[in-house]
Amino acid sequence: MTTLLPNSLLPNSLLPTSIVGSLPKPSWLSQPETLWSPWKLNGDELREGKLDALSLAADEQRRAGLDIISDGEQNRQHFVTTFIEHLSGVDFERRETVRIRNRYDASVPTVVGEVSLDGSVFADDAKRLREQTQQPIKWALPGPMTMIDTLYDDHYRSREELAWQFAKILNQEAKALEAAGVDIIQFDEPAFNVFFDEMKDWGVAALERAKEGLKAEIAVHICYGYGIKANTDWKATLGSEWRQYEESFPLLQQSTIDIVSLESHNSRVPVDLIELLRGKKVMLGAIDVASNTIETPDEVAATLRSALPFVDAHLLHPSTNCGMAPLSRQVARDKMHALAAGAEIVRAELA
Ligand SMILES: [Zn+2]
Repeated sequence: MTTLLPNSLLPNSLLPTSIVGSLPKPSWLSQPETLWSPWKLNGDELREGKLDALSLAADEQRRAGLDIISDGEQNRQHFVTTFIEHLSGVDFERRETVRIRNRYDASVPTVVGEVSLDGSVFADDAKRLREQTQQPIKWALPGPMTMIDTLYDDHYRSREELAWQFAKILNQEAKALEAAGVDIIQFDEPAFNVFFDEMKDWGVAALERAKEGLKAEIAVHICYGYGIKANTDWKATLGSEWRQYEESFPLLQQSTIDIVSLESHNSRVPVDLIELLRGKKVMLGAIDVASNTIETPDEVAATLRSALPFVDAHLLHPSTNCGMAPLSRQVARDKMHALAAGAEIVRAELA
C-alpha cells in the first residue's frame, strides 16, 4: 500500500530536510531517554512493535514537514551493535573492555572467526518504510571503521583487514536496501573524527568498497556524537575551534561519496571548513541534539545561511547534528518542526 500525497506535502527539491538517523522510541517499546535501553516486548510482539514504531517515526517526520524520511532506527538498541548482532564470527558472550573512539570504556563482543552476513539485516524493515511514503527514504548503517572500533578482534588481529571484511558485508546489506527501495544510504563514521591516519590509509577506501556498484546516493555522517556525558566531556577538551573535519573533508571531497553529513549548530566547528567539500552535497546539522532547547526557525535559518558561502545552495541538505535517540519524543518532534520551518525561510529567500 502506498500513500498518495497532497501537493502541499510533496518533498522540496531545494534544501531537502532530513534527520541524521535515530529518533526516541515510544515508551511501550523501550525505556525512553536511555541508550542501549532493553526492549519491553518479546518475540512476535517485539517484531510487530518495532514495525509499528517505524510507522509512527515516519509519520512524525512527515507531519513535521521533513522531505527525506528515515526509519528513526526504531528497531535498533544501538546504531552499531544491532547490525553486528546479525553477523557470524562475532561472539556476544565473550566480552572485552575496550576504549571507544579513545573516549570511554565499554564492554564489547569479540570477533572469533571469519565475519559474514547471511541475507540482510534491515531489508524487510526498509520495505516497510518504503510502503509508508512516496517521499525519498534514507537508511543509516554503521561505517566499517566505526564497527571495528566497537569490537574486540581476536581473529584478524588487523583493524584494516577487519574493516575490509565489514566493507564487503556492508556492500551486501546496502544492495539489499537499494533493492528494497532506499534512495539514500548513509554510513555513520564518527570514527573519522578521531583516527585520521587510518582514515587516510584505508578508512575512505573501505567506505568506497562498501559503496561499490550501488546506484543509491551514498552519504557519510561524521559527528561529535550523541548528547551523552562522555561526548560532551570530550567536546569540552577540544578547544575553542573544532578543526577535526579539516582532516577528513579533503579526503572525502576526492572520494566517490556523494553526501557528507556534519555537525554545525551550537558547535565550535568553523563553518568555512565546508569549503573543503566543494562539489559534494552537504547535510548540515542545524539542530543541536545535545540540548533540550528547541531551536527557533530563525536560528535554524541563520545556521543554514552561514554555510551558503561555502556550499552551492542546490547541494545543501538541512539536517540535525546527530541522532535524537536520547531526547524525549516531544523535544525531538519540536526540533523536527523547527528544522522544516527554518529551511522554509531560507528556501523563500533563495527563490
Ligand atoms: Zn552522529
